Amino acid sequence: MIVAIDGPAGAGKSTVSRHLAARLGFTRIDTGALYRGVALAARRAGYTPAAAAMLEPFVRALGLRFDGDALLLDGEDVSSEIRAPEISRAASDFAAQPPVRAGLMELQRRLGRSTDTIMDGRDIGTVVFPDADVKIYLTASAAARAERRHRELLAAGHHASFETVLAEIEARDHQDMNRAIAPLRQADDAVVVDATTLDLPGAVAACVALVEAARGRK
Ligand code: C5P
Repeated sequence: MIVAIDGPAGAGKSTVSRHLAARLGFTRIDTGALYRGVALAARRAGYTPAAAAMLEPFVRALGLRFDGDALLLDGEDVSSEIRAPEISRAASDFAAQPPVRAGLMELQRRLGRSTDTIMDGRDIGTVVFPDADVKIYLTASAAARAERRHRELLAAGHHASFETVLAEIEARDHQDMNRAIAPLRQADDAVVVDATTLDLPGAVAACVALVEAARGRK
């Protein structure tokens, strides 16, 4: 079974997906981490998003894999480095390039098909797995999302004002929703879970109910 969870930055996709996967015994794949890993590796190699023609073979040759929740790049654990604010921006810039998306497609489909999976991102229910068994669009107000992201960044030792975090989230959403390829949008058959006023257990319970309902239909 494939559960697709898409939505804007900071809506809580990672946390909800992790809890949902633990509750259901599914594997969780964070596709945002893959785009962040690509951005980190490309920057290290000196590529900019404008190097479009080089990027598909570059992405395909990258040794990106998960070890639980940790992202490994050629065996190096880059899980905390990819959470830096400059990598958030760079990931969105590289993700707008068709060769980057093409380079990651096969990996995402292989990972998703291998077992029962919760996969979260921006285009999982629309492009990567348009036939996913459950499609959830997890969202929240921009202020609620910025508050969450601000808390996470401070806890991880990155300093930024709330206003800066809010502005960056809004700029990234704008770019992700308006790019020409695989823009962030709610799939026609996705169910919206609005986490603005839900706490974590409430959001997880709403998602569990959707998965259980889909299982009942099978
Ligand atoms: O989810 P996260 O904030 O880690 O994603 C980082 C960036 O990766 C997003 O802003 C988006 O541009 C890109 N992304 C994407 N498609 C996905 C997942 C992430 O374009 N499926």
